Amino acid sequence: MWDAEVDVVVAGAGGAGLVAALAAAQKGLQVALFEKTDHILGNTAASAGMIPAAGTRFQKELGIDETPEDMAEDILKKNHYESDRDLTLAVCRASAPLIEWMHDDLNIELSLVTEFKYPGHSNFRMHAPPSRSGLELVKRLRQNVSKFDNIFLMMKTPVVDLLTNEQNEVIGVVAESSEGKQRIKAKKVILATNGFGGNKRMVEKYIPEIKDALYFGYEANTGEGIEMAVNIGADVSNMTAYQGHSAVNEGSGILVTWGTIMMGGFMVNRNGKRFADETVGYSEFAVELLKQDGKHGYIIFDQDIYDELLSHEDFKNLSQSSAFKRAESPEKLAEELNIDKANFVATFEQFNKNEPGTPDEFGRENFAKKLRPPYYGVRVVPALFHTQGGLKINEHAQVIHKDGHVIKNLYACGGTAVGVSGKHAYGYMSGNGLLAALGFGKIAGDHAAQAILNGE
Ligand SMILES: Cc1cc2nc3c(=O)[nH]c(=O)nc-3n(C[C@H](O)[C@H](O)[C@H](O)COP(=O)(O)OP(=O)(O)OC[C@H]3O[C@@H](n4cnc5c(N)ncnc54)[C@H](O)[C@@H]3O)c2cc1C
Repeated sequence: MWDAEVDVVVAGAGGAGLVAALAAAQKGLQVALFEKTDHILGNTAASAGMIPAAGTRFQKELGIDETPEDMAEDILKKNHYESDRDLTLAVCRASAPLIEWMHDDLNIELSLVTEFKYPGHSNFRMHAPPSRSGLELVKRLRQNVSKFDNIFLMMKTPVVDLLTNEQNEVIGVVAESSEGKQRIKAKKVILATNGFGGNKRMVEKYIPEIKDALYFGYEANTGEGIEMAVNIGADVSNMTAYQGHSAVNEGSGILVTWGTIMMGGFMVNRNGKRFADETVGYSEFAVELLKQDGKHGYIIFDQDIYDELLSHEDFKNLSQSSAFKRAESPEKLAEELNIDKANFVATFEQFNKNEPGTPDEFGRENFAKKLRPPYYGVRVVPALFHTQGGLKINEHAQVIHKDGHVIKNLYACGGTAVGVSGKHAYGYMSGNGLLAALGFGKIAGDHAAQAILNGE
Protein backbone atom coordinates (compact mmCIF):
# COMPACT_ATOMS: atom_id res chain seq x y z
CA MET A 1 0.00 0.00 0.00
CA TRP A 2 2.79 2.46 0.90
CA ASP A 3 5.93 3.02 -1.25
CA ALA A 4 7.90 4.59 1.60
CA GLU A 5 7.48 5.76 5.16
CA VAL A 6 9.07 8.75 6.91
CA ASP A 7 8.41 10.90 9.96
CA VAL A 8 7.92 14.19 8.16
CA VAL A 9 7.16 15.05 4.54
CA VAL A 10 8.01 18.57 3.43
CA ALA A 11 6.56 19.67 0.09
CA GLY A 12 8.64 22.39 -1.63
CA ALA A 13 12.34 23.12 -1.20
CA GLY A 14 12.35 26.91 -1.11
CA GLY A 15 13.24 28.94 1.98
CA ALA A 16 10.29 27.71 4.04
CA GLY A 17 10.71 24.05 3.12
CA LEU A 18 14.47 23.98 3.61
CA VAL A 19 14.20 25.57 7.05
CA ALA A 20 11.30 23.31 8.08
CA ALA A 21 13.22 20.21 6.94
CA LEU A 22 16.38 21.29 8.77
CA ALA A 23 14.51 22.08 11.98
CA ALA A 24 12.83 18.64 12.01
CA ALA A 25 16.00 16.79 10.96
CA GLN A 26 17.99 18.48 13.72
CA LYS A 27 15.70 16.71 16.20
CA GLY A 28 16.72 13.38 14.65
CA LEU A 29 13.62 12.68 12.56
CA GLN A 30 13.49 11.14 9.07
CA VAL A 31 12.46 13.83 6.62
CA ALA A 32 11.48 13.49 2.95
CA LEU A 33 11.79 16.82 1.13
CA PHE A 34 10.03 16.91 -2.26
CA GLU A 35 10.84 19.58 -4.83
CA LYS A 36 8.80 20.01 -8.00
CA THR A 37 11.53 21.47 -10.21
CA ASP A 38 15.11 20.39 -10.84
CA HIS A 39 16.52 23.41 -9.00
CA ILE A 40 16.67 24.59 -5.40
CA LEU A 41 15.79 28.21 -5.97
CA GLY A 42 12.17 29.29 -5.53
CA ASN A 43 11.26 32.87 -4.83
CA THR A 44 13.68 32.74 -1.95
CA ALA A 45 16.61 32.74 -4.37
CA ALA A 46 15.11 35.70 -6.24
CA SER A 47 14.76 37.72 -3.04
CA ALA A 48 17.26 40.15 -1.60
CA GLY A 49 17.77 37.70 1.26
CA MET A 50 16.67 40.26 3.85
CA ILE A 51 15.12 38.65 6.92
CA PRO A 52 13.52 40.99 9.47
CA ALA A 53 13.96 40.16 13.14
CA ALA A 54 13.58 41.99 16.44
CA GLY A 55 15.73 41.58 19.53
CA THR A 56 18.70 39.88 17.88
CA ARG A 57 22.18 40.13 19.33
CA PHE A 58 23.27 41.79 16.06
CA GLN A 59 20.90 44.65 16.82
CA LYS A 60 21.99 44.80 20.45
CA GLU A 61 25.65 45.05 19.40
CA LEU A 62 24.70 48.28 17.59
CA GLY A 63 22.68 49.58 20.52
CA ILE A 64 19.29 48.83 18.93
CA ASP A 65 16.91 47.57 21.54
CA GLU A 66 13.53 46.57 20.18
CA THR A 67 11.05 43.87 21.07
CA PRO A 68 9.04 41.46 18.89
CA GLU A 69 5.98 43.43 20.04
CA ASP A 70 7.48 46.63 18.53
CA MET A 71 8.09 44.79 15.28
CA ALA A 72 4.57 43.32 15.26
CA GLU A 73 3.14 46.80 15.79
CA ASP A 74 5.00 48.08 12.68
CA ILE A 75 3.64 45.16 10.65
CA LEU A 76 0.08 45.63 11.92
CA LYS A 77 0.22 49.37 11.31
CA LYS A 78 1.37 48.78 7.73
CA ASN A 79 -1.47 46.33 7.01
CA HIS A 80 -4.07 48.51 8.77
CA TYR A 81 -4.46 45.85 11.47
CA GLU A 82 -5.81 43.36 8.93
CA SER A 83 -3.43 40.48 9.74
CA ASP A 84 -4.16 38.14 12.62
CA ARG A 85 -2.59 39.68 15.72
CA ASP A 86 -1.67 36.38 17.43
CA LEU A 87 -0.12 35.00 14.26
CA THR A 88 1.82 38.22 13.67
CA LEU A 89 3.12 38.21 17.24
CA ALA A 90 4.05 34.53 17.05
CA VAL A 91 6.23 34.96 13.99
CA CYS A 92 7.85 38.15 15.34
CA ARG A 93 8.69 36.29 18.57
CA ALA A 94 10.26 33.51 16.52
CA SER A 95 12.35 35.94 14.45
CA ALA A 96 15.38 36.59 16.71
CA PRO A 97 15.83 32.90 17.66
CA LEU A 98 15.55 32.09 13.92
CA ILE A 99 18.37 34.46 12.95
CA GLU A 100 20.61 33.24 15.77
CA TRP A 101 19.86 29.58 14.93
CA MET A 102 20.73 30.17 11.28
CA HIS A 103 23.92 31.94 12.26
CA ASP A 104 25.06 29.67 15.10
CA ASP A 105 23.69 26.22 14.19
CA LEU A 106 23.59 26.43 10.40
CA ASN A 107 26.74 28.56 10.17
CA ILE A 108 25.15 31.03 7.77
CA GLU A 109 26.81 34.43 7.97
CA LEU A 110 24.14 37.07 8.56
CA SER A 111 24.57 40.70 9.49
CA LEU A 112 22.32 43.64 10.21
CA VAL A 113 21.59 45.81 7.15
CA THR A 114 22.26 49.42 8.14
CA GLU A 115 22.60 51.02 4.69
CA PHE A 116 18.96 52.15 4.73
CA LYS A 117 15.70 51.55 6.52
CA TYR A 118 12.75 50.10 4.59
CA PRO A 119 9.38 51.93 4.67
CA GLY A 120 7.52 51.23 7.90
CA HIS A 121 10.50 49.79 9.83
CA SER A 122 11.03 51.86 12.95
CA ASN A 123 14.46 50.27 13.46
CA PHE A 124 17.19 48.59 11.46
CA ARG A 125 16.01 44.98 11.57
CA MET A 126 16.87 43.37 8.24
CA HIS A 127 19.44 40.57 8.55
CA ALA A 128 21.08 39.36 5.35
CA PRO A 129 24.05 37.41 4.03
CA PRO A 130 27.07 39.47 2.92
CA SER A 131 25.99 39.65 -0.74
CA ARG A 132 22.44 40.79 0.24
CA SER A 133 21.14 38.06 -2.05
CA GLY A 134 18.57 35.33 -1.59
CA LEU A 135 20.59 33.05 -3.84
CA GLU A 136 23.37 32.95 -1.27
CA LEU A 137 20.80 32.26 1.46
CA VAL A 138 19.33 29.32 -0.45
CA LYS A 139 22.77 27.93 -1.31
CA ARG A 140 23.78 27.95 2.33
CA LEU A 141 20.52 26.32 3.42
CA ARG A 142 21.00 23.68 0.71
CA GLN A 143 24.56 22.98 1.93
CA ASN A 144 23.17 22.37 5.40
CA VAL A 145 20.62 19.91 4.01
CA SER A 146 23.47 17.84 2.52
CA LYS A 147 25.01 17.51 5.98
CA PHE A 148 21.98 15.60 7.29
CA ASP A 149 21.74 11.99 6.19
CA ASN A 150 18.20 11.89 7.63
CA ILE A 151 16.90 14.33 4.98
CA PHE A 152 15.97 12.61 1.71
CA LEU A 153 15.77 15.27 -0.99
CA MET A 154 13.77 14.28 -4.07
CA MET A 155 14.04 16.64 -7.04
CA LYS A 156 11.54 16.84 -9.92
CA THR A 157 9.01 15.15 -7.67
CA PRO A 158 5.99 17.36 -6.92
CA VAL A 159 3.60 16.47 -4.15
CA VAL A 160 0.24 16.14 -5.90
CA ASP A 161 -2.17 14.99 -3.21
CA LEU A 162 -2.70 14.65 0.52
CA LEU A 163 -3.81 11.32 1.97
CA THR A 164 -6.16 11.20 4.93
CA ASN A 165 -7.77 8.56 7.15
CA GLU A 166 -11.43 8.27 8.08
CA GLN A 167 -11.11 11.03 10.70
CA ASN A 168 -9.74 13.35 7.97
CA GLU A 169 -6.31 13.30 9.66
CA VAL A 170 -3.39 13.60 7.24
CA ILE A 171 -1.43 10.34 7.01
CA GLY A 172 0.75 10.93 3.98
CA VAL A 173 1.09 12.31 0.47
CA VAL A 174 1.16 11.26 -3.15
CA ALA A 175 4.34 12.42 -4.91
CA GLU A 176 4.91 12.09 -8.63
CA SER A 177 8.32 11.43 -10.18
CA SER A 178 9.29 10.31 -13.69
CA GLU A 179 8.78 6.78 -12.39
CA GLY A 180 5.15 7.45 -11.56
CA LYS A 181 3.11 8.14 -8.47
CA GLN A 182 4.32 7.10 -5.04
CA ARG A 183 2.37 6.96 -1.81
CA ILE A 184 4.49 8.19 1.07
CA LYS A 185 3.34 7.56 4.62
CA ALA A 186 4.19 10.36 7.07
CA LYS A 187 3.40 11.29 10.65
CA LYS A 188 3.38 14.99 9.74
CA VAL A 189 3.16 16.87 6.43
CA ILE A 190 4.45 20.41 5.97
CA LEU A 191 3.25 22.31 2.89
CA ALA A 192 5.87 24.81 1.69
CA THR A 193 4.96 25.11 -1.99
CA ASN A 194 4.58 28.91 -1.86
CA GLY A 195 1.49 30.72 -3.18
CA PHE A 196 -0.29 31.04 -6.54
CA GLY A 197 1.54 33.92 -8.27
CA GLY A 198 2.44 31.62 -11.17
CA ASN A 199 -1.17 30.51 -11.67
CA LYS A 200 -2.98 33.02 -13.95
CA ARG A 201 -6.37 31.49 -13.25
CA MET A 202 -6.02 31.90 -9.49
CA VAL A 203 -4.54 35.43 -9.76
CA GLU A 204 -7.48 36.50 -11.96
CA LYS A 205 -9.91 34.97 -9.48
CA TYR A 206 -8.47 36.37 -6.25
CA ILE A 207 -6.46 39.48 -7.20
CA PRO A 208 -7.77 40.89 -10.51
CA GLU A 209 -6.18 44.34 -9.86
CA ILE A 210 -2.67 42.94 -10.49
CA LYS A 211 -3.42 40.38 -13.22
CA ASP A 212 -1.88 42.55 -15.98
CA ALA A 213 1.43 43.08 -14.19
CA LEU A 214 4.55 41.05 -14.91
CA TYR A 215 4.84 37.96 -12.67
CA PHE A 216 8.36 38.19 -11.29
CA GLY A 217 8.37 35.12 -9.07
CA TYR A 218 9.20 31.44 -9.54
CA GLU A 219 7.09 29.90 -12.34
CA ALA A 220 6.53 26.67 -10.40
CA ASN A 221 4.57 28.44 -7.66
CA THR A 222 1.13 27.60 -8.97
CA GLY A 223 -0.86 27.14 -5.78
CA GLU A 224 -1.05 23.34 -5.47
CA GLY A 225 -0.29 23.34 -1.75
CA ILE A 226 -3.30 25.58 -1.15
CA GLU A 227 -5.57 23.61 -3.47
CA MET A 228 -4.58 20.20 -2.03
CA ALA A 229 -5.38 21.34 1.50
CA VAL A 230 -8.62 23.04 0.46
CA ASN A 231 -9.66 19.71 -1.10
CA ILE A 232 -9.57 18.13 2.36
CA GLY A 233 -11.53 20.97 3.98
CA ALA A 234 -8.85 23.54 4.89
CA ASP A 235 -9.84 27.17 5.25
CA VAL A 236 -8.09 30.03 3.47
CA SER A 237 -7.55 33.60 4.58
CA ASN A 238 -6.72 36.99 3.04
CA MET A 239 -6.44 35.60 -0.50
CA THR A 240 -6.37 39.14 -1.91
CA ALA A 241 -3.02 39.93 -0.27
CA TYR A 242 0.16 40.10 -2.31
CA GLN A 243 3.51 41.77 -2.69
CA GLY A 244 3.68 43.97 -5.70
CA HIS A 245 6.80 45.82 -6.74
CA SER A 246 7.43 48.93 -8.74
CA ALA A 247 11.11 48.67 -9.53
CA VAL A 248 11.70 45.80 -11.93
CA ASN A 249 13.91 46.63 -14.86
CA GLU A 250 12.18 44.48 -17.45
CA GLY A 251 15.00 44.50 -20.03
CA SER A 252 17.55 42.93 -17.69
CA GLY A 253 15.00 41.13 -15.49
CA ILE A 254 16.78 42.62 -12.47
CA LEU A 255 15.19 44.37 -9.51
CA VAL A 256 16.34 47.93 -8.91
CA THR A 257 16.35 48.26 -5.15
CA TRP A 258 13.75 50.60 -3.64
CA GLY A 259 16.72 51.99 -1.75
CA THR A 260 17.03 54.33 -4.75
CA ILE A 261 13.79 55.97 -3.60
CA MET A 262 14.33 55.78 0.16
CA MET A 263 17.77 57.31 -0.17
CA GLY A 264 16.28 60.35 -1.91
CA GLY A 265 15.13 59.40 -5.43
CA PHE A 266 11.70 59.67 -7.04
CA MET A 267 9.65 58.24 -9.91
CA VAL A 268 8.18 59.79 -13.06
CA ASN A 269 6.03 58.43 -15.89
CA ARG A 270 6.97 58.76 -19.55
CA ASN A 271 5.30 62.19 -19.59
CA GLY A 272 7.98 63.32 -17.14
CA LYS A 273 5.54 63.69 -14.22
CA ARG A 274 5.37 62.25 -10.74
CA PHE A 275 2.04 60.61 -9.88
CA ALA A 276 2.03 59.46 -6.21
CA ASP A 277 3.97 59.36 -2.94
CA GLU A 278 6.71 56.84 -3.70
CA THR A 279 7.52 56.30 -0.03
CA VAL A 280 4.19 54.64 0.79
CA GLY A 281 5.88 51.41 -0.26
CA TYR A 282 6.83 49.69 -3.48
CA SER A 283 4.05 47.10 -3.15
CA GLU A 284 0.95 49.29 -3.36
CA PHE A 285 2.79 51.72 -5.63
CA ALA A 286 2.68 48.96 -8.31
CA VAL A 287 -1.05 49.53 -8.86
CA GLU A 288 -0.38 53.28 -9.38
CA LEU A 289 2.40 52.48 -11.83
CA LEU A 290 0.13 50.07 -13.71
CA LYS A 291 -2.26 53.01 -14.34
CA GLN A 292 0.43 55.12 -16.09
CA ASP A 293 0.76 55.57 -19.83
CA GLY A 294 2.61 52.57 -21.24
CA LYS A 295 2.42 50.84 -17.80
CA HIS A 296 5.98 51.81 -16.90
CA GLY A 297 7.98 54.54 -15.15
CA TYR A 298 11.50 55.82 -14.44
CA ILE A 299 13.31 55.99 -11.10
CA ILE A 300 15.49 59.08 -10.81
CA PHE A 301 18.44 59.32 -8.39
CA ASP A 302 22.01 60.62 -8.23
CA GLN A 303 25.67 59.63 -8.04
CA ASP A 304 25.80 59.46 -4.21
CA ILE A 305 22.92 56.99 -4.16
CA TYR A 306 24.43 55.03 -7.03
CA ASP A 307 27.81 54.75 -5.27
CA GLU A 308 26.24 53.64 -2.00
CA LEU A 309 24.10 50.97 -3.64
CA LEU A 310 26.94 49.33 -5.54
CA SER A 311 27.47 47.13 -2.49
CA HIS A 312 24.18 45.35 -3.43
CA GLU A 313 24.72 42.41 -5.76
CA ASP A 314 21.67 43.05 -8.00
CA PHE A 315 22.42 46.74 -8.28
CA LYS A 316 26.04 46.02 -9.16
CA ASN A 317 24.95 43.55 -11.85
CA LEU A 318 22.52 46.10 -13.23
CA SER A 319 25.25 48.74 -13.33
CA GLN A 320 27.14 46.48 -15.72
CA SER A 321 24.24 46.50 -18.19
CA SER A 322 22.98 49.51 -20.14
CA ALA A 323 19.90 49.92 -17.92
CA PHE A 324 21.12 53.00 -16.01
CA LYS A 325 21.18 56.26 -17.96
CA ARG A 326 23.50 58.95 -16.60
CA ALA A 327 23.58 62.68 -17.36
CA GLU A 328 24.95 65.92 -15.94
CA SER A 329 21.62 67.76 -16.11
CA PRO A 330 17.88 66.98 -15.91
CA GLU A 331 17.52 68.09 -19.58
CA LYS A 332 20.15 65.62 -20.74
CA LEU A 333 18.72 62.85 -18.53
CA ALA A 334 15.27 63.35 -20.11
CA GLU A 335 16.89 62.96 -23.55
CA GLU A 336 18.72 59.81 -22.45
CA LEU A 337 15.49 58.34 -21.08
CA ASN A 338 13.43 59.55 -24.04
CA ILE A 339 10.73 61.14 -21.87
CA ASP A 340 8.96 64.53 -22.01
CA LYS A 341 11.78 67.01 -21.42
CA ALA A 342 9.88 70.16 -20.37
CA ASN A 343 7.69 68.30 -17.90
CA PHE A 344 10.62 66.40 -16.48
CA VAL A 345 12.76 69.48 -15.90
CA ALA A 346 9.87 71.17 -14.10
CA THR A 347 9.19 68.02 -12.05
CA PHE A 348 12.84 67.69 -11.15
CA GLU A 349 13.19 71.31 -10.03
CA GLN A 350 10.02 71.11 -7.98
CA PHE A 351 11.12 67.83 -6.36
CA ASN A 352 14.52 69.16 -5.36
CA LYS A 353 12.88 72.07 -3.50
CA ASN A 354 11.15 69.67 -1.09
CA GLU A 355 12.22 69.69 2.53
CA PRO A 356 12.14 66.69 4.88
CA GLY A 357 9.06 66.71 7.11
CA THR A 358 7.04 69.06 4.89
CA PRO A 359 4.50 67.15 2.78
CA ASP A 360 4.59 67.73 -0.98
CA GLU A 361 1.54 67.67 -3.29
CA PHE A 362 1.36 63.84 -2.99
CA GLY A 363 1.81 63.81 0.79
CA ARG A 364 5.44 62.64 0.67
CA GLU A 365 7.50 63.92 3.60
CA ASN A 366 10.58 61.75 3.36
CA PHE A 367 13.28 63.48 1.30
CA ALA A 368 16.59 62.00 2.36
CA LYS A 369 18.75 64.41 0.32
CA LYS A 370 18.89 67.00 -2.43
CA LEU A 371 19.87 65.29 -5.66
CA ARG A 372 23.24 66.47 -7.04
CA PRO A 373 24.72 65.84 -10.51
CA PRO A 374 25.48 63.57 -12.18
CA TYR A 375 21.94 62.13 -12.23
CA TYR A 376 20.70 58.64 -13.05
CA GLY A 377 17.46 57.20 -14.42
CA VAL A 378 16.26 53.64 -14.98
CA ARG A 379 13.10 52.33 -16.63
CA VAL A 380 10.90 50.11 -14.43
CA VAL A 381 7.65 48.15 -14.73
CA PRO A 382 5.10 47.05 -12.10
CA ALA A 383 5.23 43.42 -11.03
CA LEU A 384 3.55 40.77 -8.92
CA PHE A 385 6.22 39.14 -6.78
CA HIS A 386 4.25 36.68 -4.73
CA THR A 387 0.88 36.16 -3.13
CA GLN A 388 0.49 36.62 0.63
CA GLY A 389 -2.87 34.99 1.27
CA GLY A 390 -3.21 31.26 1.75
CA LEU A 391 -4.14 28.47 4.12
CA LYS A 392 -5.42 29.56 7.48
CA ILE A 393 -2.93 28.51 10.19
CA ASN A 394 -2.56 28.93 13.94
CA GLU A 395 0.55 30.16 15.76
CA HIS A 396 2.14 26.67 15.48
CA ALA A 397 1.66 26.77 11.67
CA GLN A 398 -0.99 24.03 11.88
CA VAL A 399 -3.63 24.22 9.14
CA ILE A 400 -7.16 25.09 10.24
CA HIS A 401 -10.26 23.37 8.85
CA LYS A 402 -13.25 25.40 7.61
CA ASP A 403 -15.09 24.17 10.72
CA GLY A 404 -12.47 25.84 12.92
CA HIS A 405 -10.50 22.83 14.21
CA VAL A 406 -6.86 21.96 13.47
CA ILE A 407 -6.42 19.44 10.64
CA LYS A 408 -4.33 16.88 12.43
CA ASN A 409 -0.75 16.38 11.16
CA LEU A 410 -0.90 19.18 8.57
CA TYR A 411 1.26 22.33 8.61
CA ALA A 412 1.75 25.19 6.15
CA CYS A 413 4.38 27.91 5.97
CA GLY A 414 5.73 30.54 3.60
CA GLY A 415 3.53 31.58 0.71
CA THR A 416 1.29 28.52 1.11
CA ALA A 417 -0.08 29.88 4.38
CA VAL A 418 -1.72 33.19 5.11
CA GLY A 419 1.02 35.68 5.84
CA VAL A 420 1.13 38.81 7.95
CA SER A 421 0.34 41.28 5.17
CA GLY A 422 -3.38 41.77 5.72
CA LYS A 423 -5.75 41.78 2.78
CA HIS A 424 -4.22 44.23 0.28
CA ALA A 425 -1.03 45.21 -1.51
CA TYR A 426 -0.57 48.12 0.90
CA GLY A 427 -0.29 45.62 3.74
CA TYR A 428 3.01 44.21 2.54
CA MET A 429 5.93 45.50 4.53
CA SER A 430 9.45 44.71 3.36
CA GLY A 431 10.58 41.45 4.86
CA ASN A 432 7.09 39.99 5.40
CA GLY A 433 7.81 37.37 2.71
CA LEU A 434 10.93 35.82 4.19
CA LEU A 435 9.61 36.34 7.72
CA ALA A 436 6.57 34.16 6.95
CA ALA A 437 8.67 31.67 4.98
CA LEU A 438 11.60 31.14 7.33
CA GLY A 439 9.78 32.08 10.54
CA PHE A 440 6.80 29.78 10.04
CA GLY A 441 9.10 27.20 8.40
CA LYS A 442 11.06 26.97 11.65
CA ILE A 443 7.90 27.02 13.76
CA ALA A 444 6.35 24.22 11.63
CA GLY A 445 9.50 22.07 11.61
CA ASP A 446 10.02 22.43 15.36
CA HIS A 447 6.37 21.84 16.26
CA ALA A 448 5.94 18.85 13.94
CA ALA A 449 9.13 17.25 15.31
CA GLN A 450 8.23 17.88 18.94
CA ALA A 451 4.73 16.49 18.44
CA ILE A 452 6.18 13.30 16.95
CA LEU A 453 8.65 12.99 19.82
CA ASN A 454 5.76 13.46 22.26
CA GLY A 455 3.87 10.70 20.46
CA GLU A 456 1.11 13.08 19.31
C1 LIG B 1 12.21 39.20 -6.76
C2 LIG B 1 11.75 38.96 -5.37
C3 LIG B 1 12.38 39.63 -4.32
C4 LIG B 1 11.97 39.42 -3.00
N1 LIG B 1 12.67 40.02 -1.97
C5 LIG B 1 12.33 39.76 -0.69
C6 LIG B 1 13.10 40.25 0.41
O1 LIG B 1 14.15 40.87 0.26
N2 LIG B 1 12.66 40.02 1.68
C7 LIG B 1 11.53 39.26 1.89
O2 LIG B 1 11.15 39.06 3.03
N3 LIG B 1 10.84 38.69 0.88
C8 LIG B 1 11.23 38.91 -0.40
N4 LIG B 1 10.51 38.33 -1.42
C9 LIG B 1 9.48 37.35 -1.07
C10 LIG B 1 10.11 36.04 -0.65
O3 LIG B 1 11.06 35.67 -1.61
C11 LIG B 1 9.05 34.95 -0.54
O4 LIG B 1 8.00 35.39 0.26
C12 LIG B 1 9.67 33.70 0.10
O5 LIG B 1 10.88 33.40 -0.54
C13 LIG B 1 8.71 32.55 -0.02
O6 LIG B 1 9.37 31.37 0.37
P1 LIG B 1 8.68 29.97 0.13
O7 LIG B 1 9.60 28.95 0.67
O8 LIG B 1 7.28 30.04 0.60
O9 LIG B 1 8.61 29.82 -1.45
P2 LIG B 1 9.73 29.54 -2.55
O10 LIG B 1 11.05 29.99 -2.12
O11 LIG B 1 9.20 30.07 -3.82
O12 LIG B 1 9.76 27.95 -2.61
C14 LIG B 1 8.66 27.19 -3.02
C15 LIG B 1 9.19 25.90 -3.63
O13 LIG B 1 8.12 24.97 -3.73
C16 LIG B 1 8.25 24.28 -4.97
N5 LIG B 1 6.94 23.70 -5.31
C17 LIG B 1 5.85 24.32 -5.83
N6 LIG B 1 4.83 23.43 -5.94
C18 LIG B 1 5.29 22.25 -5.48
C19 LIG B 1 4.73 20.95 -5.31
N7 LIG B 1 3.46 20.68 -5.67
N8 LIG B 1 5.49 19.95 -4.78
C20 LIG B 1 6.78 20.17 -4.42
N9 LIG B 1 7.39 21.40 -4.57
C21 LIG B 1 6.64 22.41 -5.07
C22 LIG B 1 8.74 25.33 -5.92
O14 LIG B 1 9.32 24.74 -7.07
C23 LIG B 1 9.75 26.07 -5.03
O15 LIG B 1 11.03 25.51 -5.11
C24 LIG B 1 10.91 38.52 -2.75
C25 LIG B 1 10.26 37.86 -3.81
C26 LIG B 1 10.69 38.05 -5.11
C27 LIG B 1 9.99 37.31 -6.22
